[in-house]
Amino acid sequence: MPYQKKNILKLYNLPKKVKFCKSCTISNQRPRITFDKNGICSACNFNLYKKKIDWKKREEELLKLLDKFRSKTSGFDCLVPSSGGKDSGYVAHILKYKYEMNPLTITWAPNIWTDIGFKNYNGLVDSGISNILGKPNGEINKILTKLSFIHVGDPFQPFVYGQANFPLMMSVQYNIPLIFYGENGEVEYGGDLKNAHKPTKGLNDDKKHYFSNHPPKHCEKYQIKKKDLDFYNAPNIKKINKIGSEMHFFSYYHYWDPQENFYYCTKNTNFLPNLERSEGTYSKYASLDDQLDGFHYYLMYIKFGIGRATSDSAHEIRDEKISREEGVSLVKKYDGEFPKKYFKVFLKYIDMNENEFWNIINSWRSDHIWKKEKKNYKLRTIIS
Ligand SMILES: [Zn+2]
Repeated sequence: MPYQKKNILKLYNLPKKVKFCKSCTISNQRPRITFDKNGICSACNFNLYKKKIDWKKREEELLKLLDKFRSKTSGFDCLVPSSGGKDSGYVAHILKYKYEMNPLTITWAPNIWTDIGFKNYNGLVDSGISNILGKPNGEINKILTKLSFIHVGDPFQPFVYGQANFPLMMSVQYNIPLIFYGENGEVEYGGDLKNAHKPTKGLNDDKKHYFSNHPPKHCEKYQIKKKDLDFYNAPNIKKINKIGSEMHFFSYYHYWDPQENFYYCTKNTNFLPNLERSEGTYSKYASLDDQLDGFHYYLMYIKFGIGRATSDSAHEIRDEKISREEGVSLVKKYDGEFPKKYFKVFLKYIDMNENEFWNIINSWRSDHIWKKEKKNYKLRTIIS
């Protein structure tokens, strides 16, 4: 069945001419990113600003916040949404052992756990951090994943609903208002800079940034019952306000460096990197938990020409781990590599054949990113 080609330029409000940042490897096709007149992206500019921040002062702000919420009894006093990965694992562990808080980690289960992801999840719990695991109805989750792949161009959308909303649900359920996220992805990796100088995120930011303006309610039009979507939804706003839930970014209070988080977690939370690099990139320690991960990144490559190696190298250049030249050659080598390892698993999960899969993929290819040469699609603009 052919699928109608999507208008990516309009859907994501993208510039038609593809340009790459002069300082890192990201392009102007990342939704909401901006470039200055010198051709430098907003994430690189934020990175320069980050280096001038008085981090001692920020830590004092953190201490004030923690003292306000610190439990006087033995109860949990903050929530850390975490899969057991290096970033959230670092936040939970440091809050407990350096700042003497009593964090409860909240995990929204991956669609299909990888062995390494499951080990790291248990590793964090075994390092002394309690956890609540939320796992949605498997039958519904498969249907939602399929619908999201077809209609949103990202099979990860239902996972993102839970990732964003389940912590709020638990905040209300357990009466724990303080929620700690790791980094503010929008400012660290390029996006909306509205919250660049704020420690908190607003309740509606998720809808705009991560739900692609496609909140769970949209699934009702595909005959998914409201009661089957409840677990993916945020709690009622009145309940959130009654508790006074606050979502803070740890990256506002502490200099954020994913590689340093990795070193910290290998020492402290039993974190293990993968034995082999993730498909589509060169790294072994980021986003390892879900067998379907690769398809989220692959769709990003199809829609925006931005693959996993681009995202990884862009922030590693900013963090001064690699040079731009090294980044460019890593992008050329790995970006867009097809996630074949779990391809059959993915097709089975969403009950689809290969032919239909490629029809959907091609419906998300935009002519301003791709050209067809003979039978192959090629990127129009290559980084140099
Ligand atoms: Zn840049």
